[in-house]
Parts: sequence; structure tokens; C-alpha cells
Amino acid sequence: MRTFTLRAEIFRRFLKPIKYISWIASGGLFLLLMLLPTFGRQKMLFLAFFAVVVTYIVLVFYVFIPRFGIRTWIHYLILMANVALVTVGYALLGEYYIAVSSLYVIVILLGGILEGKTAAYLTAFFSFLGYIAVENLFDFSYRFQLLSQGTHLIFFMLTAYLGSTLGEALISYARDSQRKNADLAMLLDASLVVSSSADLTKALPELAQRILAGLPISFVRIDLLEGEKAVCYGLAAQRTLLSTFRDTSQEIILHDSLIYSRVLAEPRVTLCSFDQLQNEEERSAFLELFPGEIKNCCIVPLIAGQQIVGILAVGEAREYDREIFSENKLDFLGTLANHLAVVIENGRLHQAERQKAKRLEILYEIAKIFGSTIEMGELLEKIFELLNQVIPADTYFVGFLDKKSQMVDIELLIDDGIRYESEKVPLNEGLIGYVIRTQKPLLIHSLKVEWENLPVKPIPLGQSKMSESWMGVPVGKGDHLNGILAVASYQPNAFTEEDLSMLINVAQQAKLAFDNARHHAEVEEQARHDSLTGALNHRIFLEKLDLAVEEARPHSSPLSLIMMDVDFFKEYNDTYGHVLGDRILGLVVQAIQSHIKSKDMVGRWGGEEFGIAVMDASLEEVCKVAQRIRETLANLNLESENGAAIPAPTVSQGIACFPLHAQGSNELVEKADQALYRAKSAGRDQIAVFGEEEGCH
Ligand code: GH3
Ligand code: MG
Ligand code: MG
Repeated sequence: MRTFTLRAEIFRRFLKPIKYISWIASGGLFLLLMLLPTFGRQKMLFLAFFAVVVTYIVLVFYVFIPRFGIRTWIHYLILMANVALVTVGYALLGEYYIAVSSLYVIVILLGGILEGKTAAYLTAFFSFLGYIAVENLFDFSYRFQLLSQGTHLIFFMLTAYLGSTLGEALISYARDSQRKNADLAMLLDASLVVSSSADLTKALPELAQRILAGLPISFVRIDLLEGEKAVCYGLAAQRTLLSTFRDTSQEIILHDSLIYSRVLAEPRVTLCSFDQLQNEEERSAFLELFPGEIKNCCIVPLIAGQQIVGILAVGEAREYDREIFSENKLDFLGTLANHLAVVIENGRLHQAERQKAKRLEILYEIAKIFGSTIEMGELLEKIFELLNQVIPADTYFVGFLDKKSQMVDIELLIDDGIRYESEKVPLNEGLIGYVIRTQKPLLIHSLKVEWENLPVKPIPLGQSKMSESWMGVPVGKGDHLNGILAVASYQPNAFTEEDLSMLINVAQQAKLAFDNARHHAEVEEQARHDSLTGALNHRIFLEKLDLAVEEARPHSSPLSLIMMDVDFFKEYNDTYGHVLGDRILGLVVQAIQSHIKSKDMVGRWGGEEFGIAVMDASLEEVCKVAQRIRETLANLNLESENGAAIPAPTVSQGIACFPLHAQGSNELVEKADQALYRAKSAGRDQIAVFGEEEGCH
């Protein structure tokens, strides 16, 4: 069918010239018939013949071909009609010694070109029959008749041979150009497929399918080189083949694959036949690449510039007697590979650029968000949100190094969407501690696979199940090390080198943000304290006192307030100067702090007056605290600049207790103040308890 289509194609091309030649020939025939010395009945016969020729031309070119197209039977019809016409012409014109029989040659040639050998020899045979019929009927050549007829037979047969050979040549030429067209179309198709989608993971499987459909082969795989591996991006096979193929989404370690490493060492088109492989190792390398049915393969490196970017491997399962990979096929595969390599490389560059641009965009976004966030809790949330966008993972950690305790505080821990309480892990254990100790990023593709070689064994955090992939980077460096950002996944190979560099970038930004947040927290903390003494300032002390009372209320836990004022401080200042006065205030706060617990607090009420809140202490215990402060101050050894001894300051203290004396913080302050006033008026340097005449002892 294919051959006939080609023949029809050739005929179609010659249709117009043949039509014109036919008209010219019939015109010539008409002239000839007019010029010949014929009369009467013969003239009429000639005219009838001419009419038949014209009718024939009209029927063939204007009725049959337009109506039925160029079909095999039309070819035969034309050929046989031509033979008949030539025979009739010969019969009519033979007596004038016009070489009409040479027209048989043209008809036979036409038969060869149009329909091939069979038609050519058939036409030759009928031409010969027509010829000898006319010869015998009219007895044109009575002398050497047999010889002449024999010569004609040989001549006709030779012509048939010539015609069919010419036809074959034209057909193979047409077939060649058709194949080249198909090849070109496929190349174009290939580049369109790859360039239409920026994502090679989608384009290359499609391309493999198209190559399989376009070439007479059984199996196609397209691997791209990624570092030490060849990763299979595209795979296509005739349906029956893949059922035996073990793993279709495989990665091939290049130096482990005997076949690929050979192609890489000597990058050229390589043919390989399974049956000719020497040893088991080679055969298993073959089976790693191709299904078992594939017997022969052709491996073509994809080279862009000087670099091998991938490998195109095609396989053939069918057995042929002739060459499996013809020169034409190899040529085409070579061209396809060159073309593919460039398109793939372009696709890759494009993809890499897009990814880079996207990551830069995200980093810019991160810098912006981090720059505007100074509150640590909010910052941790933002880090989580951003990491979640750029690096999909199951678990996210943010940890801070506590140098004093040699522990890492995991401030943010989100595992499988569940938020966990912050916890502490020892610095000298687990992957988190390891990253902080070594101050180096760590990427583990598969904990299971790499288990034996891990520098430290991981400690499960969050859910108790073990992660498969793990990636962590330190935040900050050296003395400025803050902590760690880490992610983990329950899938192996969840993170790439690019993800790691992204995490490193985020950590760099996070480092600045953490420093900012910390600085901000320090400034805030400072603002809450009085700069001279370090005690809480009036507002914060009152706020905290209020909070503490509210916290103590449900359990009626005792909370005592001591109001303290330095005695005759004005005189003190006037006598020894304000600088010493300031120092004394600092010493008073130190003395207070040395006798209270970490949950208790001291605030500067104003001037030389202080408030001391003592939690969970009975009246008796608070009195003891007040006594001790008093004693500590009394024992101070003070000296002026010139070495003269200065008397230690004395203080008056008033105590009130919640819930014993007051029901709220304001009332507590009031009652403590009243007690202080009593201590003052009773002569100073003493401790008074609200509502108790005797004071504290
Ligand atoms: P008393 O409380 O025993 O009745 O006498 P006082 O002299 O301590 O009382 P007063 O409240 O009159 O004086 C408080 C003095 O404390 C006034 C001021 O000179 C001094 N003073 C307040 N704040 C500071 C400070 O920050 N530094 C110094 N050096 N002195 C301060
Ligand atoms: Mg005073
Ligand atoms: Mg005062």
C-alpha cells in the first residue's frame, strides 16, 4: 500500500506533463492523418481513430482520474487502452511505413514507472500480442518476419525491465525523501515537545513515547546525568515489554554501570548485543538498562557543547536477519541526540534560571519579613511559614544554643502538622547537637541507608517515629552562634543540595533576625528596669505586683510587700555628695536582692524608696527578710574618697501582707505605706507590720 501511494505520488507529479503531451501527440496525429494521401472510407476510418484518441484522453484525464483518483485499476486501464490504441494506430498506419510500433516502447516504459515489474511485463506481452496480430493481419513484413518479431519481443521485454527499474529508482528516491521528511518532522516534534514544557520531568517521558512511535524500535530511555548518577527521565516501550522490567524510575550510579561508564569514557554511538556480552557483570548491566526481551541496543550520548548531559538508549526486541541498526537509523539517532542535547541543556538552564529566580524572590521576601519582625515568637512563626513554602517537609525545628547549660532549647517544633512544647536536648547528643557543635550543615538523604555511617545517632523529637531524610544548618558562627534550623521528612531523599543551600540562605537571614529580636528584647528589658539600681521601674513593678496578686488570689497564697525608705537621705546627700548617694542606692538594691528569691522582685518606687514583693512567704518569714536586709546595710563599710569612714545608711520598712491585710495590690501598697509611715514616725531604722503595734522581731 505504501509503495502504491508513492507510485501514485509520482504519477500525480507527472500527470500534467502527460496530459499536455497527450494533447500535443493527438494534435500531431491529426496533422499526420490530414497529410496522408487517403480518401473515402479510409479517411473516415482515420478520423474515427482520431476521435477515439481524443475521447480516450478526455475520459482518462477529465473523467476517470478526477472521479476515481489514481488507482491501480486506472493504471492498468490506461496501460491496456494505450496498448490497444497503439495497436489500432499501427494497423491503420502500418502501410505508410510510420513507426507506430515504437510507441509501444513508451507505453511499456510508462507501465514500468507507474506499476512496477508485473505491469511492465504484462504491457510488454500485450504490446507484443498486438504487434504480431497487426503484422500477421496485414502481413506488413513478410520477409524476416520471425526475426523481426523475436527482436521486438526482446526489445519490449528489455524496455519493460528498463521501465520498472526506472520506476523502482523513482520510488526509492521518493521513499528516501519521505523518510527524511519524517525524520525532520520528528526532530521538530522532539524540540517542540521539550521546549513547550519547561519541566523536563514532563517533557522527556512524552518525548520517549514519540521516539518510540516514530522509529521502528521496541524500547527508548532517556537518562540525564546528575552528578554521579544517571536519572531516568523518559521511558517508553512496546506494551508487552515493561511487565518484565524491574524498576522504571531508577537512578543509575554511573561508575557502577559497566555500559554507561564505557559510553561516558568514549562518548560515541555504541551498539551492543546482549548475546555477545562476555560475562555476567556485563549482562546484569544490560538488564539494568533494558527489559529482558531486548536483544540489541544502541546507546547515544547526548552532548551539548563539550559536556555530556545525558544518554539516549534505544533497544530492539525483534530479531532481524538484516542489520538491526542500519546506517540510516544510526545517522538519524545521532542527529536526534545532538538536537536533543541542545534542547535539554536549554531546558535545564531555563529551569535552573527559573528556580534561581524563584528562590531569590523568596529570599528577598524572607529578608523583608525578617527585617520587619522583632518579636521572637512572631519571628519563629514566620520562619516556619516560609520554610513550609520553600522546603516541603514533615518536621521543622528551630533550636537555640544555651551555652551555660550546654543544652539546645528547641523553641519551635512542628511535626506532621502538630505543634510540640519547647524542649531541651543535650548539646553532645543527636543530630541537632552535632550540627551546632561542628557548625556545619548536614544533609542526610536516607537515615536508614546511612545509619551505620552517621556521626551521631538521632534522638526522636515530636512523634516517636524516626525520620528518613534530615537536613540541618547552624544559625550564626563561632562566638555568634545562635542555634539551628532543621527540617526532616518521613520519606527518603526528600531534600536536595539546592534545598540545603536554600536552608543555609534562610539561616543567614534568620541569624540577623534573631540578633535583632534579641537586641530588641534586651532594650525592652532594660526599659523595664531602673538604670541606676537595676531594680524594676515603678510602672513595671506595679504591673507585676498586680499580676502576682491575681495569681496568688485563687489559692490565697501569701504575698507580702515591704515598702522601704532610706532614712535622712537628704542629709546623707548633702553631707557626702550625690555620687555617694547614688552608690548607696545601688548598694541598697544589692542588699535587697541578696535576701530575696528569684521569683520575688524589687522595684524602685521613686527617689530613695523601694518596694519588695516576697512570694509565698508567711509574715514571719517576710520579717526575717526585712531584718536581714537591715543587718546587711548596717554592716556596710563605707569610705569617702579621702578614706574617711562614712556611717552606713539605715532604712525604715513597712510590711503588709496579702490576703491578710489587703485584698488587692493597691490596698497592699497603701497598707505597706502606712506601716512604713509608722516605722518612720516611731524613730526610723525599724520595721513595722501593718496593724501590729510591736513591729517585727
Ligand atoms: P526621711 O525619709 O527619713 O524622712 O528623710 P529623707 O531625707 O530621706 O526624706 P526626703 O524624702 O525629704 O528626701 C529624699 C531625698 O532623696 C531627696 C533627694 O536628695 C534624695 N534623692 C532622691 N533620689 C535620689 C537619687 O537618685 N540620687 C541621690 N543621690 N539622691 C536622691
Ligand atoms: Mg528618705
Ligand atoms: Mg523618701
